[in-house]
Amino acid sequence: MSAASGAPEARRARIEALATLPLFHKLRGRRALVAGAGQGAIWKVELLVAAGALVDVVAPAPSEEARDFVAALAPAATLHARRWTEADFADRALAIGDCADDDEAAAFARAARAAGALVNVVDKPAFCDVQFGSIVNRSPLVVGISTDGAAPVFGQALRTAVETLLPHGFKDWARAARDWRGAVAKLGLDFRGRRNVWERFAAMALARPERGPDAAERDAFLAAAGQDAAAPARGRVALVGAGPGDPELVTLKAARLLRSADVVLYDDLVDPRVVEMARREAERIHVGKRGRMPSVAQAAISGLLVELARAGKRVVRLKGGDPLVFGRAGEEIAALAKAGYGVEIVPGITAASGAAAALRVSLTHRDHARRLQFVTAHDRGGELPTDLDWRALVDPAATTVVYMGVRTLPALVGRLLAEGVAPDTPAAFVERATQTGERILRASLSELPALVAAAAPEGPCLTLYGRAIGEADVAAALSLSSMNEG
Ligand code: SAH
Repeated sequence: MSAASGAPEARRARIEALATLPLFHKLRGRRALVAGAGQGAIWKVELLVAAGALVDVVAPAPSEEARDFVAALAPAATLHARRWTEADFADRALAIGDCADDDEAAAFARAARAAGALVNVVDKPAFCDVQFGSIVNRSPLVVGISTDGAAPVFGQALRTAVETLLPHGFKDWARAARDWRGAVAKLGLDFRGRRNVWERFAAMALARPERGPDAAERDAFLAAAGQDAAAPARGRVALVGAGPGDPELVTLKAARLLRSADVVLYDDLVDPRVVEMARREAERIHVGKRGRMPSVAQAAISGLLVELARAGKRVVRLKGGDPLVFGRAGEEIAALAKAGYGVEIVPGITAASGAAAALRVSLTHRDHARRLQFVTAHDRGGELPTDLDWRALVDPAATTVVYMGVRTLPALVGRLLAEGVAPDTPAAFVERATQTGERILRASLSELPALVAAAAPEGPCLTLYGRAIGEADVAAALSLSSMNEG
């Protein structure tokens, strides 16, 4: 089995449909044509000149202001006071028309394309090959924002937001990267070595964004890069908690590892939005449900992890919730250890915490619950385990959270009642905690199975019971009444 052909594997598309593809256009020293000298056209002239283009502006009756403006940009821009003609398009990288009507726009676009120029007609997207975005300029770092004409004002508002996010010091960092590239290239690092070096650079820039690097930082950076060249990187595996669903509940560490992963292995339970956080180029391998032959599938996953580590990959093994809670992490850790690989473990928010937040109830309570227990209601064969600690599970002064327990819920509750649990013990059932489609059912423990059966849940679900869970009703009532007040 190779890494590329993967175990039980299916790939998701890495990106959803795009209205337009952002490409960044090199214009230095190339010729561009602008027809028209209204305000929109003049702003385009300024942009083109800023990008190093040589611009001819053709307009039959330019205003005094437009003349002055273009004159100030000489020799990069030249004004010709006449109508455009087909001859104007020869040898143009880009042609921009500020056209009076659709007929002129169509003629302009036709002439531009015939001459092999990309065309943009101001405010007429139907005639455009390329459109201008809103720009955040930290050149050589440039951000362009497009809404494909759907919402230009929204785009501008986002531009303002991004402006505030990107300190001006990034301009100097981006310049420094450009200046240091040659020195890094001379080290002869392989792809991953170079990537490590530039990840370290990004971490430095993000840690100190206000101003660019000084000479001491340059020396430290290049010295560390030299050390990378001396000791090539080994494969690494991280077991990472993806949380219960909501991607904002992923840790910063998980997000960072995903951004630098070569390969991401993920389960069904992991929300697609979390998988999306991975580096674009990362290979994503869906290792699916464990199915009816759990040990075989698990062995295949462990084997794949070892194989990828041996191939020198940086692997993120994403597990729903916390990787160390009902995640069979032990088997993967042991397989890697046997092969001589350590594992970095990044905790995640376990489903019980997500469900408690959904219920707005504390799992512990000074009077009602000084003990919290997580239990699985699913044995190797999918049945209710017979060897559970029933005395602990009927304790009304504990909060019990049941994982993997939808199918066996009636059997579990039947047994708990037989073991002496009070039928009116407060209980709750949470489907898809923190995900879209989250559902909550509340009932006494004895009434819960019928309610759940009627709801026919399809997503991952938890059952919670114990006196503390009764506080949920109070919390819900309070939050409802405060909503009514507000
Ligand atoms: N490691 C995971 C648990 C894996 S076992 C964690 O820490 O959460 C799989 C079980 O977790 C599911 O059968 C279900 O009982 C529970 N689960 C996982 N995500 C859930 C969610 N978003 N909502 C409710 N239950 C969830």
